[in-house]
Amino acid sequence: MEMLIMYAPAHTAIALAAKRMNPSASLIGLMVAAQGSELLWVIFNYLGIEHSTVDAGGMLHLEYLPYSHSLLTGIVGGVLLWALLRFVFERKDVATIFGWVFVSHIVLDVIQHEPNIQIAPWMPTPGIGLDLQSIPWLDFAIELAFCIACWAYYRGSLRLLTGFIAINIIDLPLMFAGDGAASPLASNAIILPTIVLVTIIAAWAVVYAFHKPRKRSVSATEEGNLNYERTDAHEHNP
Ligand SMILES: [Zn+2]
Repeated sequence: MEMLIMYAPAHTAIALAAKRMNPSASLIGLMVAAQGSELLWVIFNYLGIEHSTVDAGGMLHLEYLPYSHSLLTGIVGGVLLWALLRFVFERKDVATIFGWVFVSHIVLDVIQHEPNIQIAPWMPTPGIGLDLQSIPWLDFAIELAFCIACWAYYRGSLRLLTGFIAINIIDLPLMFAGDGAASPLASNAIILPTIVLVTIIAAWAVVYAFHKPRKRSVSATEEGNLNYERTDAHEHNP
């Protein structure tokens, strides 16, 4: 089975880079927005609105995903999220970054997917996709490099880097599993979206757990200084 969907780490990495760009945005919120289209895909697969197919050679194709993964859905979703934050929640400070992060999903997927991304849900052709997934080693190398670039931009800890490498490696069996392995998916519509949902949650968990810089002994000294200043201020202002 070749998985024909962009793996969770790259989408999660872009959320991390966005957090660096706009620290007042919630990391969890950004990670969810970056996977907005994928979460829709999971829900639509469970509901039978979208589906995958397995061809005669046992190869899995996401094939029918016009609602969660059209260019229009990605762009309109980003605009709606921006408008919601800007005008309903009055979070002008984070509205723009959230909008772009939502749109980023479909942009990354266009690079990776086989040409199965429609311009709009009602336009079956042309299908768009640069098909990076068809060369698994290159796909793995590029997605890992992308994660490392986002990590470097975020200035993450070594633990976070290790976490990114781990979640990329965990996805390897999905990239390289042989032909025919996808066949159980032909008769069961629940397995694939569940696997994808698990990889999404695993990537969120790893990145959230390790996103903070490791506490160093220096912070104890800084805390001591703070306490000292507080005591000092108290004495001057009884
Ligand atoms: Zn996707």
